[in-house]
Amino acid sequence: MPLPRLSLAIQNTRKLHRSLYLSAAAMSRTMTITFLGTCSGGGPNESRNCSSLVIDGMDDRSLWMVDCAEGTTRQFAFQPSDTPTWLKANTVNKMFITHMHADHCMGIIPMLRNILYPPSIDPHAFRPANPFPKIEIYGPAGIRTFVRSIMTMTLTHTADKYVVHELLRPDDVPTPCDPPEVMHANEVIGRDIRCDEDGFWKEITRGKGTLGDVLVDAGPILHRDPCLGYVFREVVSPNRKIVILGDTYDPSPIAPLCMSASLLIHEATDAHIPREIAPQHKRSPETVLHTALARGHSIPQMAGEFAKTINAEKLVLNHIGGRFPAPRHDHDPRLPVMREIERQATEAWGCGRYAMAAWDFMRVAVPVPDPSSLLPQNVDQAYPLIEQTVYADPGADGMLYINNKKRKW
Ligand SMILES: [Zn+2]
Repeated sequence: MPLPRLSLAIQNTRKLHRSLYLSAAAMSRTMTITFLGTCSGGGPNESRNCSSLVIDGMDDRSLWMVDCAEGTTRQFAFQPSDTPTWLKANTVNKMFITHMHADHCMGIIPMLRNILYPPSIDPHAFRPANPFPKIEIYGPAGIRTFVRSIMTMTLTHTADKYVVHELLRPDDVPTPCDPPEVMHANEVIGRDIRCDEDGFWKEITRGKGTLGDVLVDAGPILHRDPCLGYVFREVVSPNRKIVILGDTYDPSPIAPLCMSASLLIHEATDAHIPREIAPQHKRSPETVLHTALARGHSIPQMAGEFAKTINAEKLVLNHIGGRFPAPRHDHDPRLPVMREIERQATEAWGCGRYAMAAWDFMRVAVPVPDPSSLLPQNVDQAYPLIEQTVYADPGADGMLYINNKKRKW
């Protein structure tokens, strides 16, 4: 049923499930996604930084990052003090860039300066050079030139090395690594990865997850410029699959890689908000749709429809337009606007589960589906750090949304 009931349902459900706990064992197997920036390119603004998120699901607790807007490094420092697990910027060892627009990649160099150890100031100190890159960056054609150029122009020197792998379409020209003088002094020769005959980049890298290997695939999505989506999938049961898309007005080319995703993160840059919800929003539905498509973006219904197409279990909306700032508290007039955006996606998804709109520092957990891992309140062995920070959606079918007290809404 329409809007008021749905909004109420989400709110009530959050309150209802605020006391759910995961056992420590279950938490150790859980993959989490933490949003470091959720604003579209119109940002950043006071409530959202531009695009970046990290996946925490590796056996060695390293982080994998998708997109890296300006200010991403500082977002690590801005994590709420009661965040369940503090994320460290220098543990990011893989970075996946969806496309070359500035709001998705201008934070790469500051992150590298944070991750790569600086050269010693003692000329006599001997630190054996590690020939292996400390961080790998994956992205579309040009990403290697971009990183190399700024590293060079900013006179950046590090003790550690980095590498950039380019995901190339048939006609793309790779950034050369030959002769070696063209490279940055701290750069390792990267791979030029051509798409297969279906246009996909399969198994571009892997990591050891908490249950088994996690493989990464990439595929094209339609935006006004070349753009990618990334698929992170477990090779062992329960075969969790996390699909993270860059900007798009039509992600259907990547759909075959995304079927039955455990979690879909899809942009929703613009939305029509009825005046009875927020009088300041005056644009017609037609104007909103036309503008979104003309700029290569989606409205919430489109995210919901794609979630339906791929039969996604969960849907989180991301890359929220600057005109939709994140609510600051439970009574913020911004809240009904975000609820309306969620409602529109939910309705188009049409599976009885609820889409969530992301906010900065929102953490989504993808646990191993196991109802017995949910413990009642006050169980001695419960994982203590997520007290009052875990929310289950109305489906309560294995996906929990972890929030924090300071920014909850
Ligand atoms: Zn873009």
